[in-house]
Amino acid sequence: MANTALNKPAAKGGSFLLESPTPQDVFTPADLSDDQKLIGQTTEEFVLKEVLPVVKDLEAKKPGLMAGLCRKAADLGLMGPGIPEEYGGAGLDNIATTVLTEKISMYGGFSITQSCHAGLGTVPIVDFGSEEQKTKYLPKLASGEYIGAFALSEPQAGSDARNTLTRAELNKEGTHYILNGQKSWITNGGFADLFIVFAAVDGEKLTAFIVERKFPGCKPGSEEHKLGIHGSSTTPVFLENCTVPKENVLHEIGRGHVVAFNTLNVGRFRIGAKCVGESKHILMNASKYSKERKAFGKQIGEFGLIKEKLAEMAIQIFAAESMLYRTAGDMEAATNAAEHSGNEAQNVLKVLEEYAIESSIAKVYGSEMLDFVVDEAVQIFGGYGVHEDYPVCRAYRDARVNRIFEGTNEINRTVIIQTLLKRATGGHLPLIPAVKKLAAEIHAGASKEETPEGVLAEEARVIANAKKMFLQAAGGAVQKFREKLAGEQELIGALANIVMEIYAMESGLLRAQKAAGSQGEAAAAVMIDAARVLIADAAERVHHEAKRAIAAVHEGDMLMTQLAVLKRFGEGPTVDTIALRRRIAAAVQSQDRYPFEKR
Ligand SMILES: Cc1cc2nc3c(=O)[nH]c(=O)nc-3n(C[C@H](O)[C@H](O)[C@H](O)COP(=O)(O)OP(=O)(O)OC[C@H]3O[C@@H](n4cnc5c(N)ncnc54)[C@H](O)[C@@H]3O)c2cc1C
Repeated sequence: MANTALNKPAAKGGSFLLESPTPQDVFTPADLSDDQKLIGQTTEEFVLKEVLPVVKDLEAKKPGLMAGLCRKAADLGLMGPGIPEEYGGAGLDNIATTVLTEKISMYGGFSITQSCHAGLGTVPIVDFGSEEQKTKYLPKLASGEYIGAFALSEPQAGSDARNTLTRAELNKEGTHYILNGQKSWITNGGFADLFIVFAAVDGEKLTAFIVERKFPGCKPGSEEHKLGIHGSSTTPVFLENCTVPKENVLHEIGRGHVVAFNTLNVGRFRIGAKCVGESKHILMNASKYSKERKAFGKQIGEFGLIKEKLAEMAIQIFAAESMLYRTAGDMEAATNAAEHSGNEAQNVLKVLEEYAIESSIAKVYGSEMLDFVVDEAVQIFGGYGVHEDYPVCRAYRDARVNRIFEGTNEINRTVIIQTLLKRATGGHLPLIPAVKKLAAEIHAGASKEETPEGVLAEEARVIANAKKMFLQAAGGAVQKFREKLAGEQELIGALANIVMEIYAMESGLLRAQKAAGSQGEAAAAVMIDAARVLIADAAERVHHEAKRAIAAVHEGDMLMTQLAVLKRFGEGPTVDTIALRRRIAAAVQSQDRYPFEKR
């Protein structure tokens, strides 16, 4: 593919905090190939024609309907995007899979079913399976003959997933493992044919197993009654002397945590894609309604406070989408580079681990963005927003769980900072030299900054200073608390928020600059507006979070000095965000959809 971002070495995970990439270094949605766009169109058409018309029946759990839809989707290659073609899958790259995941997500009940099957239920076999396991199971998963599921959680082990009580013992003939325990909250549990089950061999060594529903002792329970995603199936799975052939151990005994956590990295990234897709659909509904509904003799969409909501929805989607495709591009470039070197399984692992920070960001930012979008959509619909006959009501309920599963957003915030620090202390990311360099710069006093030039040049300076604010806050926190920092969760939360805002701001900035470079500033004007509002607001949030962090670390004169430095880094241009949001809202309303996606 002739794309500059993909032809360069992939950015290292977390390096966005320390480096200053150019627009040509990042992949953006405008860089999608025709094939990738076609995959998006095919997926969207499938959802519009096959899924949305039967939502009521899906919500009522009409027997066989969801499984039948999955098989129809499989006929189009939508259920096995990441399964290599040699095993009957679509063999899509990271970017095309992201497009597919986004476009399949207009209805939460179906998208969670598909993503659990194609992600959590399939990825472990693709990435960690033996040749025999791949040959036996992947063609069935790709064709939809088998629906996949992932069984990690237990009643006492959700976030604390390693606290598994499910045990596996080898039988005395040495042919089968006997599994006993209970798994809870298992998506697709009602009809899945295959479960990736995690159990502790001899009560100690966490291990992944491929368990077929038909194996003796595998007993899925009855449906849970949930707040939302009613179309999806969620059940417990009871393992009562469940007999699993020894050959169905996935990867290695005692390495279940590696399978689980790396699969969850993929899952987290895809939740980000799912949230972007879902939110675009909601924005479309909200914009249409803003023109249908009248109050005080006007369309409600003519009121400034409604316009402001539509604009902010578009801006937050823009931020999440820009990060998503930037990361997908880096993952693809890293995958391509890894394919040319050494052991395949090791390479896959390396890529999954490399982008753990960005995957957690996609999940946390995406799910919080979607919650904001559905909440504002309900508000735009007024009373009808809480009526089940209107689509935003269901979307509001469906969205909430994204902040809970695949690692709650609290857990993922800690993952962002812990992974960052691990990479820094392991010498993979030069965070410590950057903190020292900044300290020397602060010590030397303020130097005269050059006046920036070019599209969004002032915003680029704001982002460079936001990175300094992060280094200042994180450097102080690490120096004070050292190995005890993990216990300072509120501080870690503030730092994680800064990291996410920086990735969002910079991804939006580089995308808008790239668009201005290729289409001209006039054609990219609304996107430039969105980037300006995003950066103006996010920079203030960064300043606020950094101030909180610094106040928790320093006191007395040192605190005053640190706050004075922070104030300097926090200075930015005053932007008329009200006027900019009006222009963005007009772009949304003129097409009744998210305005930054070419059709
Ligand atoms: C609809 C649905 C579908 C699901 N599908 C699956 C599936 O297919 N497979 C599967 O294995 N699991 C699945 N899950 C389970 C899901 O992964 C867990 O619910 C999730 O990991 C949280 O665990 P928990 O519910 O036990 O909450 P808890 O772990 O009890 O957490 C409760 C609260 O405490 C917080 N908390 C916990 N530990 C910490 C900490 N160290 N620091 C700060 N805060 C903390 C959490 O963030 C949360 O706010 C699903 C859940 C739901 C609701």
